Amino acid sequence: MRTVSFITLGCKVNQYETEAMEEKFVQSGYKVQGPDDLSDIYVINTCTVTNLSDRKSRQMIRKCRRNNEGAIVVVVGCLAQTAPQDVEEMEEVDIIIGTTGKMDVVDAVEEFDGSKKARVESLKEVEFEEMKVSKIEDRTRANIKIQDGCNQFCSYCIIPYARGRIRSRDINNIREEALRIREQGYKEIVLTGIHVASYGKDLGDIALIDVIEEVATIEGIERIRLSSIEESALTNEFLERGRTTGKLTDHFHISLQSGSDTVLKRMNRKYNTREYKDTVERVRKFFPDAGITTDIIVGFPEETEEEFQESFNFCKEVNFSKIHIFPYSMRKGTPATKMKQVDSRVKKERAKRLSLLEEELRYAFMDSFVGKDLEVLFEREVDGVSDGLSSNYIRVEKEAINISNEIMKVSIKNRINDKLRGI
Ligand code: SF4
Repeated sequence: MRTVSFITLGCKVNQYETEAMEEKFVQSGYKVQGPDDLSDIYVINTCTVTNLSDRKSRQMIRKCRRNNEGAIVVVVGCLAQTAPQDVEEMEEVDIIIGTTGKMDVVDAVEEFDGSKKARVESLKEVEFEEMKVSKIEDRTRANIKIQDGCNQFCSYCIIPYARGRIRSRDINNIREEALRIREQGYKEIVLTGIHVASYGKDLGDIALIDVIEEVATIEGIERIRLSSIEESALTNEFLERGRTTGKLTDHFHISLQSGSDTVLKRMNRKYNTREYKDTVERVRKFFPDAGITTDIIVGFPEETEEEFQESFNFCKEVNFSKIHIFPYSMRKGTPATKMKQVDSRVKKERAKRLSLLEEELRYAFMDSFVGKDLEVLFEREVDGVSDGLSSNYIRVEKEAINISNEIMKVSIKNRINDKLRGI
């Protein structure tokens, strides 16, 4: 039996696509092994979101070749798509596939005759590539990819070039996959994509909320989570219909990137802080306990101390339950690289200041649930203590065994560092 190892870099969409490729190999009679095992084939699903991700992707390619000089090394994904020639020049690489055609990976391996092959398509006319994932190992949450591509062209982001224009998955195929996932006993589904909020824009008369409602009709699926969402999608109608399903989790990851209007403009983001704040208030009207999480870039080119302070104050005002902080990292090929860069020490110092605020806000949010009840989907158990996530994305633990994959009400007693504890 031929063996294959996978190495996945980057986002949830890449993880999903790796799962789909693994399944293809298994169906074709291959054995999937761990990433460090000695295998006949290595598939590296690359990421290119920052220069650092490029570097890591290349390191992994070299490492796989070192693992087995005689293996077939396949490089797929975003780095292969945006820099096919560079990847082709790497002597460690045998087969190159971009962000489309990942489902042809087994054919590419079986047709390999020893001479380097590149299969990188132009993304101009591509359609949503249907993939099937029906077996997910070791987790209580299953991702379903519903969308690909992005039309936003934020000034720091390479993704529209790596993933192409937006394209949405057929709702019937989403339903079928959700049914398969339910059959395996999963209770929570995460709807994921590159820019989930744009779901349906290429299809016409359908939108993300229709997908949520459709999946919500499936008995046994108890929770539907969105991997992230854009502020403009969270209209009164969306929130009302989402709440009515009774299954949409009250956790919204709404990427802000900066709380300064002038920085947002330079980033080519399509909203301002007033609109963002209005959205958050709207969300809290429909979901009073909502966990609102975000991403913030600090030290974006030309960011002044005043702009950083505006961003800092805005984060405080919005009262996020968690912030992912990214010191700006240059991405070759994007307009932001041509702007005046902020000194790396300044970036570090700003990231540190914001992370102190982040911890304060996160703990205050968690503490506000002490004395209340939270519904928790339990995931794992260590030494008689089980833990899992609440609907609004707080990690909660309680003393109990054999409750993995159960949703239970927990009465919260206190907080221990990054977890709430209850009975
Ligand atoms: S919305 Fe902006 S940051 Fe997100 S993938 Fe699209 S271009 Fe990149």
